[in-house]
Amino acid sequence: MSEHTITVAGVSVDTRHWIGGERVASAQTFPDVSPIDGCTIGDISRGAATEAAAAVAAAKAAFPAWAATSRAERARILHAIADGVDKRIEELAIVETTDNGALLRSHRRGVMPRVAHNFRFFADWLLKLEHEDFETRGHTNHVSWDPAGPCVLITPWNAPLMLATWKVAPALAAGDTVVLKPAEWSPLTASLLADIAAEAGLPAGVLNVVQGYGSEVGDALTSHPDVRRISFTGSVPTARRIAASASANLTPLSLELGGKSPLLVFADADLDLAVDLAVEQYDNAGQVCLAGTRLLVEEPIAEEFTRRFVEKAAALTQGDPRDEATDIGPNIHPRQLEKIDGFVRRALDAGARAVIGGHRNGGQYYAPTLLTDVAQDSEIVQEEVFGPVLTLQTFADEDEAIRLANDTRFGLAATLATGDPQRAERVSAQLVAGTVWVNCFFVRDLQAPFGGSRQSGVGREGGTWSFDFYCDLKNTVTAP
Ligand code: NAD
Repeated sequence: MSEHTITVAGVSVDTRHWIGGERVASAQTFPDVSPIDGCTIGDISRGAATEAAAAVAAAKAAFPAWAATSRAERARILHAIADGVDKRIEELAIVETTDNGALLRSHRRGVMPRVAHNFRFFADWLLKLEHEDFETRGHTNHVSWDPAGPCVLITPWNAPLMLATWKVAPALAAGDTVVLKPAEWSPLTASLLADIAAEAGLPAGVLNVVQGYGSEVGDALTSHPDVRRISFTGSVPTARRIAASASANLTPLSLELGGKSPLLVFADADLDLAVDLAVEQYDNAGQVCLAGTRLLVEEPIAEEFTRRFVEKAAALTQGDPRDEATDIGPNIHPRQLEKIDGFVRRALDAGARAVIGGHRNGGQYYAPTLLTDVAQDSEIVQEEVFGPVLTLQTFADEDEAIRLANDTRFGLAATLATGDPQRAERVSAQLVAGTVWVNCFFVRDLQAPFGGSRQSGVGREGGTWSFDFYCDLKNTVTAP
């Protein structure tokens, strides 16, 4: 075992970058700390401009051969990567839980199998990707999906491998080469993915993984002139910096950003379902971009809804994310906990009432919190907290519900609970959101477009939309 390998819950993880098919160490490192107990898991290579340049050079060198590889062969290798993920689900699950504190049971049963699915889905979608040829005054128009070039993919820590592979899989399928930079708070599973891809036969340089801080290696990657696409998932302030870096080269961007999504509960809703949906918003300790953190409840049922919500939320078990019985784990980092607590303190100072929670819960845990008596223009209603903190406001009628729901600079998602299908249709049509869920939450099919309106993002990914982004579409017009 190399001095650069650490053992995480029995799994060996290389702490170096993966560039051009080789492990590369940086002289400097950064500590990777587990949110479960605050202990350092290991020291990870801290890349900067040199490593960014090397990774982009490797991706550029590997691009012509990968772009020329047949669709069938690319799809075959993506399926082999999926098989490799399937074989290592247990290892990926425990490593990611140790790294970011999300529930082991969801990693095992939900997230990691879906990571494998992400590769299979985009491999299969590639094989059926086609535009019909059409004629213009006897000339044939043929549209082709040409690979675009090296892509930089930058991802956050809240669902590291899931979010990374939503990008890596379509980019590789499209014939692009990739430099993946995972978040510095959860760097480990990206390193394992590099191993899995190499074992599956992905040629050297097609997938590169660089580790480090966004302001260092991330900035060097996004301002690199040889990069042909940047896909970023993360916060709005970082997106602004990335857009500024990308502007020098006019590099096309896909941005999946934050949210402050509403969950509308109408008086005609199945109340048990509505309460379940609301409590579900605490999943992943509230660190979910799509979470419906603004509960908007119709006045006549607000009291009963709150009573049942409190009962259900009080039954949630908070604790070690490795325990099967745990519902809510820790928040990612002391800095994030501080941020969450700051939001709640300021809301309470401004007159909000904590129906439940409103305080830390020892270690890196924050008690599931519900705040009422909040003003529509207050910080707690307008800003993304990214912790287990919900607000509850009431509305008198449908118009007011829609007005409150849309009164935000975000537009990622919206959820509504109603027993009236016509109302569902009417309200959905008026909500500004990339995804609207009616009487359900978090159902995502990779065929569907996914992304945010307003400041929740730029562009859509999923199915053909992903290929639109990762390919240079070309129309060839041939005379009769
Ligand atoms: P973040 O913006 O702080 O960091 C995300 C990534 O960007 C990290 O890898 C970081 O190292 C990198 N980065 C930071 N500065 C950079 C720079 N100057 N140049 C290049 N890269 C840089 O976000 P976070 O705290 O890791 O994640 C939480 C945010 O992500 C929340 O706002 C959440 O809503 C959002 N998110 C959105 C989606 C979505 O699909 N819309 C999904 C998950 C999370």
